[in-house]
Amino acid sequence: MSTVALAKCPNYDSPGLDRALELLLEPLCGMGAFVRPGQRVLIKPNMLSGHAPERQVTTHPALVLAVGRLVRQAGGSLVIADSPAIEPFGRVAAKTGLAQTASELGAELRELTEPMPAPAVPGAIFKGLQLARLALEADVIINLPKLKTHGQMLLTMGVKNLFGTVVAQRKSEWHLVAGVDRPAFANLLLDIHQALRPALTILDGVWGMEGQGPSNGRPRHLGLLAASADALALDLSLCRLLGVPLPSYPLYLAARQRGLLNPEVENPRLVGDPAAEFAVADFKLPDLQSVGFLPRPLARLAQRHLVSKPVARPGRCRACGQCQKICPAGCLSLEREGPRFDYQRCIRCYCCQEVCPEDAIAFERGLLLKTLQRLGR
Ligand code: SF4
Ligand code: SF4
Repeated sequence: MSTVALAKCPNYDSPGLDRALELLLEPLCGMGAFVRPGQRVLIKPNMLSGHAPERQVTTHPALVLAVGRLVRQAGGSLVIADSPAIEPFGRVAAKTGLAQTASELGAELRELTEPMPAPAVPGAIFKGLQLARLALEADVIINLPKLKTHGQMLLTMGVKNLFGTVVAQRKSEWHLVAGVDRPAFANLLLDIHQALRPALTILDGVWGMEGQGPSNGRPRHLGLLAASADALALDLSLCRLLGVPLPSYPLYLAARQRGLLNPEVENPRLVGDPAAEFAVADFKLPDLQSVGFLPRPLARLAQRHLVSKPVARPGRCRACGQCQKICPAGCLSLEREGPRFDYQRCIRCYCCQEVCPEDAIAFERGLLLKTLQRLGR
């Protein structure tokens, strides 16, 4: 039976956070159920980009510290690792507070750099998947996602957080392959999750992000920690708490189509603090552009003409070049006034918006979205 534990945690202060974490893991039999002495444990936080913890873009360092201490007590050796979207790893580690955390824990802090073939997973959609060696060779993965909205996947939580094990330059390649339609990207994420099977996922929902996440949304206080040995079950439970209908969640649809769902995953046993206390009625989701229901050639056409397109927000660009570097289609150039887009080649992957540190890229709503909104969808 899949189990998802929930615990109230109003802030990141110690010792309240440590106590909340203890209560959270109690019904899952504690950290000792996941980590044995001598095992090499990889902690995978969300280190998307170099923002201070208060921006709520990345997993809070206090949670990483508290989890790291429990791993140490259980006898595991620790490595904290991720592959930020574009900024140098050292800068992201410093700004997010995770460099300091790793030093307090005496843990290794490593960038996920070396790709190697992932083991074949029955039913995988993407063949030839390459993931970071460090993740594939760890004895145990502890997945520490941040609860945020996501322009392509609606929400980023447990399953999506593992996309960070795709090393940096290959992220763009996968975006190019999977950026055409959301179901393909959802399937890629499920393949990664199946290949890595994290032993434990602990979600940082003390403060999450709503609106135009995963980096330019608004911080939202939720006061929640959630944990499960099954990241997909955790994600689906969180959708329910946030009032997100499961059929609107791309990962749910892809998992259902692949036969990965069973009653246990769809309706896991909820333990810990009562779920009703975490229900949120007004969580603001991002605008999604829905072309996944069209045949592939039409989807491309629709993507070009109907869905929202990235546009520059005047006066904000500081010419850092990050959007240009990450653009998988190579269709973005930088001019004096800011970024310029070649819409014929743009695949609407929204990576540029995701990485822009100045919030200098917005979306001009496409005809499809405007029509759907007019129809009250
Ligand atoms: S749009 Fe943003 S990411 Fe691109 S160059 Fe300007 S500030 Fe940097
Ligand atoms: S311009 Fe932006 S949305 Fe378009 S392909 Fe490049 S990164 Fe993706």
